[in-house]
Amino acid sequence: MKANRRTFLEATSLAAGAGFLSSFTKAGKVLPRYQPTGSGLKFSFKPYELQLKHTFTIASNSRTSTAVMLTQLEWEGVTGYGEASMPPYLGESHQTATKFLSTLNLSQFKDPFRMEEILDYVDAAMPGNCAAKASVDIALHDLVGKLLNQPWYRIWGYSAEKTPLTTFTIGMAKSDEVVTKTKEASAFKILKVKIGGGNDEEMIKGVRSVTNVPLCVDVNQGWKDRQEALDKIHWLKEQGVVFIEQPFEKHNFDDTAWLTQHSPLPIMADEALQRIGDLDRIHGVYSGINCKLMKCTGMREAHKIIEMARSLKMKTMIGCMTETSCAVSAASQLSPIVDWADLDGNLLISNDVFEGMKVVEGKILLPELAGIGIRPKG
Ligand SMILES: [Mg+2]
Repeated sequence: MKANRRTFLEATSLAAGAGFLSSFTKAGKVLPRYQPTGSGLKFSFKPYELQLKHTFTIASNSRTSTAVMLTQLEWEGVTGYGEASMPPYLGESHQTATKFLSTLNLSQFKDPFRMEEILDYVDAAMPGNCAAKASVDIALHDLVGKLLNQPWYRIWGYSAEKTPLTTFTIGMAKSDEVVTKTKEASAFKILKVKIGGGNDEEMIKGVRSVTNVPLCVDVNQGWKDRQEALDKIHWLKEQGVVFIEQPFEKHNFDDTAWLTQHSPLPIMADEALQRIGDLDRIHGVYSGINCKLMKCTGMREAHKIIEMARSLKMKTMIGCMTETSCAVSAASQLSPIVDWADLDGNLLISNDVFEGMKVVEGKILLPELAGIGIRPKG
């Protein structure tokens, strides 16, 4: 009897185990190790010029167009799209990006899932060229996400409904133009106002004559005196401003640290933070960071920067340049975990060649499409 009972129990547990294992394999969870097929990555790129809807003016310059490089990475019939946006003050151009991208031999890589190996190779190919590097990184993320049939926010484990509102940027202008631009931005629930050009009060008052939505301000290194800056921040707080971006020149750590210590509003680093190595130096000097794919070579490093900044209890923002929906949608994949997003670059141009991330009632709506969530416009 005892022997029978033991036999019965052994038989049932074996059957249960076998059932568990067979359902596991049937569901396709045990995948064979990838064997390279022999076909390498096919890479191509094309210069493109973005036309801005309005002349864009910040503390240091003014422009009406932005040079970009559109890239494609193809593997076994699947194509990933990427982009480099190169506003002139950052030092990259169609010429520098062409030179850099032409030196790359991506056909040597037979397995796109080896992303670390591929992107380490791209980063080591030449110093600088951060936007050009980002154009490869974004295309590779798009390709791998498509091969996995998932968007990157899901691969990273983020929740689509947690995306923040995005700011819309009001560039520097005279009062009447500021009023017009603010009226045009009525769909947005938070605005970013460019100041630091000597008419800060005029800019804020112009915006406030139209709307009561929260504001953030980007000084673009335009302030010089720390006591004056602190007085201005107190006034800006009364005007409903929620943070101050890059108040002083990026190397001015002493005044920035003093201001962060005394300021009632968070002080965010933009120009002072490019690569992940900068985070160590600015921790304790700024309250938070504005991370952009074009500064830090793309999604791989931006993901690391934002996760690291969060672990250091810094505020985080994901930003952009004037870009098509390609690079903006790539950046938006990280937006569920940031405090603020400034992803309006595709809305500032009139000749976008992709559709992707949308803004609905001021909030980022992530596309369900795999990869970075874009499709070329038909
Ligand atoms: Mg900025």
